[in-house]
Amino acid sequence: MRRRPLQCPFCDNYLASPADIRIRSLDITGGICTCGAVYVLDRKGHNLGEIYLDALTFLCKGDFDKAVTLVPEQYEEEIIDYDIHSNTISRRESKTGRLGKIIFMRLRDL
Ligand SMILES: [Zn+2]
Repeated sequence: MRRRPLQCPFCDNYLASPADIRIRSLDITGGICTCGAVYVLDRKGHNLGEIYLDALTFLCKGDFDKAVTLVPEQYEEEIIDYDIHSNTISRRESKTGRLGKIIFMRLRDL
């Protein structure tokens, strides 16, 4: 499987491993890119619905009320398989189920 280091899908910046972050009532594992994109790790790859909402809230700096009013036209998203142990990403599905997923989101310039 082809692997690449963790990179922002919007600006190709190399990124640090996801870290534990707490904003307001939001508890996530992820980070922020210099281009303004946020990323949130889903460790097991089974909980995307919840992670999706967490990422939206993170994108709104922890403002859940604002996050739920965002419409898809206002942001772009990218979901990538991620190997926690090697800090590498892959766009192919994992057969072993060892991979987590990272969801990236960035607000569009409107
Ligand atoms: Zn970026």
